[in-house]
Amino acid sequence: LAEQARAAAHDPATTRDGVTVEVAANAGAPADAAEGRAAGADGVGLFRTEFAFLHRAAAPTEEEQLQIYAQAAAALDGRPLVIRTLDAGADKPLPYLGMPAEANPFLGVRGLRLGLARPELLSTQLRAIARTAAAHDNVKLMFPMVATIDELRTARTLLQQAIEQTRTTPRDGFEVGIMIEVPAAALTAVQLAHEVDFFSLGTNDLTQYVLAAERGNAALAALADGLHPAVLRLVDEVCRAARAHGRWVGVCGELAADPVAAPLLVGLGVRELSVAAPSVAAVKQAVRALDADEAAALAHAALAAESADAVRTLVVSDDGPTG
Ligand code: PEP
Ligand code: MG
Repeated sequence: LAEQARAAAHDPATTRDGVTVEVAANAGAPADAAEGRAAGADGVGLFRTEFAFLHRAAAPTEEEQLQIYAQAAAALDGRPLVIRTLDAGADKPLPYLGMPAEANPFLGVRGLRLGLARPELLSTQLRAIARTAAAHDNVKLMFPMVATIDELRTARTLLQQAIEQTRTTPRDGFEVGIMIEVPAAALTAVQLAHEVDFFSLGTNDLTQYVLAAERGNAALAALADGLHPAVLRLVDEVCRAARAHGRWVGVCGELAADPVAAPLLVGLGVRELSVAAPSVAAVKQAVRALDADEAAALAHAALAAESADAVRTLVVSDDGPTG
């Protein structure tokens, strides 16, 4: 990585024509939030709370969770912290919940589905997040694996109850968003946008569901490609819906760190990229090299490409007006 990128890592990432893209870090623990900050991240765009629930005999209590979330928020000193509610199930089972085994866990009771099936589990977490948001600015909450608007409404009702139970008021900057990682949510984003503040695209799961190719299956790694035009078309759909409602869109899947994806995502309207801390500096440099209007034209061409390889070729052979 160029010395220049490291030096500029703590500056905002602004395109040549003045569009600022927030480059945040993904985190699974408060230490990761601190590491992200040290790497120059503008915040944490995905705090994976399930790590606090794994390898234990029972779920963490509200107080235990509060400590973890508050530590992460403190490490960010007012920068955004997007806390994702428990995304267990499938690849991340919690034995103490005693959930029945499933033939297809990735199509099973995971993410928000699990939280709605075990509302006491989700409500405890929502109280801990509400208390964190009452003590720190810019705490945001997002629900994973939303497929339908009814799930979102039920989750928001539980959140409202949790806030009332804690007798607190979230501070400035508190927002509620959802991950877009199920094709049904992407395709109905125009309705969902009425009821959320932001969308964060989980391209790892979205890609696996769009291409029917399990994300961890090495034999399908080439097929599960987030640059496939079918995935990009859903990203476009989500960005259009968000724009129409004045909502912002981020990407917190692996695609966000792919330098080939940067012009496409920014070109489609993504304004936050959340990546592993070591990728922050390089992603910021990639954003600075862009012109948002040129990126939009390139992204538009990519939507019409016939394959992920064709998209890659398109981006790599596009060297911009300055050559
Ligand atoms: C995703 O699906 O892209 C995502 C960011 O969530 P996770 O990888 O935790 O499933
Ligand atoms: Mg996911």
